Amino acid sequence: MKSTYFLIAILLVAASCKKNDTLANTTATITALSCGSGSFSSSATINTAYSATATVPYTGGNGVTYYGGSAISSTGVAGLTATLQAGSLTSGTGNLSYAVSGTPTSAGTASFTISFGGQSCSIALTVNSAGGLTVPAVYNKIYGATSITYDGTFVTIKCNALPDHKSAYYQTNNVLYEAFSGTTFGGGTFAINPNRIATQNITLKIPVNPVLNAAHPSTPMGVIGVAINGIPFFNQYAAGGSALANEINGFDQYWGHPQNTGMYHYHVEPLYLTTVKATKSALIGFLLDGFPVYGPEEPNGSTPAGLDVYHGHTHTTVEFPAGSYHYHFSTAAPYLNGNGFYGTPGTVTQ
Ligand SMILES: [Zn+2]
Ligand SMILES: [Zn+2]
Repeated sequence: MKSTYFLIAILLVAASCKKNDTLANTTATITALSCGSGSFSSSATINTAYSATATVPYTGGNGVTYYGGSAISSTGVAGLTATLQAGSLTSGTGNLSYAVSGTPTSAGTASFTISFGGQSCSIALTVNSAGGLTVPAVYNKIYGATSITYDGTFVTIKCNALPDHKSAYYQTNNVLYEAFSGTTFGGGTFAINPNRIATQNITLKIPVNPVLNAAHPSTPMGVIGVAINGIPFFNQYAAGGSALANEINGFDQYWGHPQNTGMYHYHVEPLYLTTVKATKSALIGFLLDGFPVYGPEEPNGSTPAGLDVYHGHTHTTVEFPAGSYHYHFSTAAPYLNGNGFYGTPGTVTQ
C-alpha cells in the first residue's frame, strides 16, 4: 500500500515535469500583432474603477501554450494596468486577451505598450470625462495627444509636441535623434537651425461642430491646429508675417522643425504621417476652427481640385461620409491654409 502511494507520487511529479518541460522548451511566436484592431470589452470613465478585457488579434501563431504576463502600466492616462492572460496560440490567426483594471486618473487616451512572441505595439483606451460625454470617435485619430476630453461643444486636446519620428532636431542623446543631410522639402539643401526640440504644454480647444465664419479670421503666428501625432501646425509665414523662404531649408527628414522655444511644428505636409503612419490621402489633423486636414491627395490619388482661398473644399471623406469642408496640404504655398480660417477658430494656450 505504502509503495503504491509512492509510485503515484513519482508519476505525478513526472507528469508535472513533463508539462513544464513542454512549456519551457517551446517559445510562443507570432508574425504580427494588430493593436489597431484591438478592442476593449467596456468603456472607461475618469476616476471610476474599471475592469475589462482587451482583445488583440495576431497572425502567424505557432500553436504554443503561453503563461500570463506581468502588469503593464498605462501611459497618457495613468492608473490602469493591462495583464496578459495565459492561453494557447492557434496555428495562425487568433486573439490575445489582457485583463485591464484600475482607476483612470484623467480623461483622454490610456495607452499600453504590449510585447508578445517577438512583436510589439500599443493599444489605446479612451477614458471619458465625467458626465457621460464620449469623445467623438474621429478625435481618437489624434494618437499623439496626451489627453483628449469633450464638454459637448469643444474637444480639448493637450499635447507635448514631441515628434514620434526621428529628427535631426532631437538632442543627440535622444533615441529619436537621427542626423540628416541632403535634399529637403522644396528641393533645397537641408541647413539645420540652432533650435532643438523641447517638451511643450499646448492645449487646443476645438469646436466639434465647426461653422463657416464669413469674416474668415486670420490665422495667428504659432499654433493654428494639430496633427494626429500631437505636433502643432503653423501657418505659411515665418516670424513677422514674412514668407517662409529660408526657413524651408531647415525642415528635417520629416519636414518639420523647432522654433526658438523648441516647439517642433509643421508648416507643410508631415512626411512621416503621409508615408509611414498613414497615407497621402489620410486625415492628418485638425485646424483650430474644427475643420479637418487631409494629405496632398484624394483617395483615388488625384490632386485635390478646386481648393478655395482658404485652401479647402467640400466633399465626402472616410471620416465624414455626409461630407465636410476640409483643408488639404499642397507642395506649393500656402501648403496648408490660405487666406485665414474657413470657420470660427477655438482657442490655444501654449
Ligand atoms: Zn516654423
Ligand atoms: Zn478633398
